[in-house]
Amino acid sequence: MTGTTDTTAGSRGGAVLVLNSGSSSLKYQLLYPDTGEVVVSGIIERIGETDVPDHGTALRRVFDEFASAGIDLSSIAAVGHRVVHGGRTFHEPTLIDDDVLAEIRRLSSLAPLHNPANVAGIEVARELLPGVDQVAVFDTAFFFHLPDAAATYAIDSAVAEQHALRRYGFHGTSHRYVSERVAEFLGRPYSEVNQIVLHLGNGASASAIRGGRAIDTSMGLTPLEGLVMGTRSGDIDPGLVLHLNRALGMGVDEIDDLLNRRSGLRGLCGENDFRSVRGLIDAGDAAARLAYDVYVHRLRRYIGAYLVELGRVDAITFTAGVGENDPGIRADALAGLERFGIAVDPERNAGRAAVPTRISPDGAEVAVLAVPTNEELAIARDTIALSGG
Ligand code: AMP
Repeated sequence: MTGTTDTTAGSRGGAVLVLNSGSSSLKYQLLYPDTGEVVVSGIIERIGETDVPDHGTALRRVFDEFASAGIDLSSIAAVGHRVVHGGRTFHEPTLIDDDVLAEIRRLSSLAPLHNPANVAGIEVARELLPGVDQVAVFDTAFFFHLPDAAATYAIDSAVAEQHALRRYGFHGTSHRYVSERVAEFLGRPYSEVNQIVLHLGNGASASAIRGGRAIDTSMGLTPLEGLVMGTRSGDIDPGLVLHLNRALGMGVDEIDDLLNRRSGLRGLCGENDFRSVRGLIDAGDAAARLAYDVYVHRLRRYIGAYLVELGRVDAITFTAGVGENDPGIRADALAGLERFGIAVDPERNAGRAAVPTRISPDGAEVAVLAVPTNEELAIARDTIALSGG
């Protein structure tokens, strides 16, 4: 378990515990939704492979750590759960009861790796914190109202309908949080700003948001579609999957592993961490250079598409680990777009963005920004708003 604790903050009431349960990990953060002050945060990894056999044991470990840090469990006002797939059911944060839990479980067919882990986290938290409100915040919710033209795959509509095959989008909590910060930063009503948000982390996605409503996003039925990511391919010809099966005899699990874990930057140059890719490029590594070029090419393709879809764009924003910290990607993604009112000022773009930062020159038609995302804070705020805790 790795964690950090600020024991000076542990005695107040009204903190929200945010849980993000992965298939083999449990990320946790206890924070105050009003100020964003973090009391404690950490991650338990390799659940099932180590002396932590399941999520129940993991959460008990977390609570043991709270106890030894002097944090009283009664200071937890509510628990917010990041839930990956809300399907066509959940379009906003939802107070969890037995029916909601059953529906999240039912949606596991759409997210077989993620939703069962989320369900496990919810069950354990309800058991260990009885009487404390639990809220589900869905990664898909922000994209629930995508226009049909953007959400529909051009496949047999009867098959699609029967099996709920459509584009759902993910990272929604981040896209919503960041786009709201952008409107605040610009001092304009959220409902009036047209924007493109580029969430570039280990996972990566882009969204086009018109007046506070997402009208397109790069991830689809699953988080595999779209941009090149740390280990995921993003867009490929679906015929490639058929070819891998027919011509190479690869089975579905092998293809899954190839596209989700052995592709993207890692597949192209052996490294999925962007800093390592930069290091390789600086050392003259040709594979890393190509990986970077493919990454930038895909990113620019989406930016171009969203410029056209939106027609008028007020802001383009970079966020998440790569977007907040790597000036090079920000400059390369938007190079040569002056005729569209888009420019990046080299001095403003020079560093990491610990706070919302304008990196376009004054007077530019399109504001280019780097804005730190904070999914935990967004989840905590949604949670406290619903629980009234
Ligand atoms: P996230 O998924 O948002 O945590 O982002 C993880 C990604 O951000 C990894 O690929 C990191 O290499 C990348 N990252 C973190 N810090 C930096 C940095 N200072 N420069 C470039 N990339 C970074």
